[in-house]
Amino acid sequence: MDLEKKAKIDSISKSFCAAKWTQVTIHLGNGYNHSCHHPGLHKISIEEIKNNPSALHNTRYKLERRREMMEGIRPKECDYCWRVEDSNEKNVSDRYLKSFESWSFPYIDDIIADPLNEKFNPKYVEVSFSNQCNFKCSYCAPYVSSKWQEEIKKYGPYPTSKKFNSINHLTEEIIPNNSYNPYIDVWWKWFPDLVKNLLYLRVTGGEPFLNKNTIILLEKIIENPQKELTLSLNSNFCVPEKNINRILELLKYINDNKLVKNIELYTSCEAYGEKAEYIRWGLNYETWKNTVRFFNENLRNIKIIIMSTFNLLSISSYVDFLRDVLILKKSFKEESHLLIDTPYLRYPTHQTAWLYDRDLAEKYIDDIDDYFSENLADFSEKKFFAYEYTKFKRVVNLIKSEWNRENYDQMYLEDKKDFIRFVDEHDRRRGSNFLKTFPEMETFYNRYKEKL
Ligand code: SF4
Ligand code: SF4
Repeated sequence: MDLEKKAKIDSISKSFCAAKWTQVTIHLGNGYNHSCHHPGLHKISIEEIKNNPSALHNTRYKLERRREMMEGIRPKECDYCWRVEDSNEKNVSDRYLKSFESWSFPYIDDIIADPLNEKFNPKYVEVSFSNQCNFKCSYCAPYVSSKWQEEIKKYGPYPTSKKFNSINHLTEEIIPNNSYNPYIDVWWKWFPDLVKNLLYLRVTGGEPFLNKNTIILLEKIIENPQKELTLSLNSNFCVPEKNINRILELLKYINDNKLVKNIELYTSCEAYGEKAEYIRWGLNYETWKNTVRFFNENLRNIKIIIMSTFNLLSISSYVDFLRDVLILKKSFKEESHLLIDTPYLRYPTHQTAWLYDRDLAEKYIDDIDDYFSENLADFSEKKFFAYEYTKFKRVVNLIKSEWNRENYDQMYLEDKKDFIRFVDEHDRRRGSNFLKTFPEMETFYNRYKEKL
């Protein structure tokens, strides 16, 4: 860790995090946002954005959290970081990592000069135009995926103790794709001012490759190049070929003419083969790998980042998945053009990695750790980078610290039972077969099925 940078952050306060100013994810489909992506979402006021389009980010609610951070109070919504910091004092939480980023650190003096500025333009923006999606991943939600929305409308929530994926205000407030959406309207009003000093723009979903606003955005960038901008698109990489080809055509033009600084594509996968397809319902694992190769072959020098949200269902096939990632890395001209990032899954709580009992899962975790450490990059071969491994180590530390909790058995019993309720209902609704897909989890399944 850069100690000088750390000292600067610590000198502001014990709970300061620049991401609360510099980073935002905006869901235009229902008018919610959060800074960063760990805290829950909060509503954007239509009244506030009428006169100040940047209130898509600078909401009154957020100004209050910023005030807390300046005063050294830990905002409750940032518990992701407090949990990482409290579990092991050597852990480096995202609060520091995000504050050190090139889109944060240089702006800290601007922040402290006017911490409650209502027109602070973020430097890293994630935007979702709608929840239109062809997948229903097990950790996703109806307000993010229209497929999930359809399923829940038809069958209701899952019968877990917390009624997983019930329709809530986030889904109820979704503005249908074909209706007037004031948030999208204001977004395009704000865009010319926002994009001028923007360093990162990431389009998330739903599935961005299915949304017409993604095309509009790429066309606007072609009209008005942004040489300092890193442009990122998320995709599940399993959409119709015509959508892939249209996006490729526009990205290729932007890339060949150097209209932005960098282009990155983010895609998710966190297990191998049919286990990955169970987690990410709608995924075709082979198509996904082929699309990774396709973009690499057709767009020179872009980066593809695999988001691998490590969860209970990742554990048993993760080494096989990493083997595939390594094969893909080796097919890239530069290994740095294919990266893997491993955040840990927090929600839904019935799918967190630490639910897998230590006696059953420790061997897998150690094998993954060994595989990573044995395949670190050297000068002769394309392999994993140390920082990719470090990110995974952080997840391991967290899982182990959860296993070590004194009241672990009691604390997570209901979540484990919920997991069984979830997969049973999943199999019933979707015609899947959990134990056929994950035969190695039979002992775990039976252990908690009995307790229902
Ligand atoms: S403190 Fe952590 S959770 Fe809160 S905004 Fe910063 S990085 Fe995100
Ligand atoms: S592809 Fe993305 S938006 Fe669609 S269900 Fe999966 S996680 Fe949700």
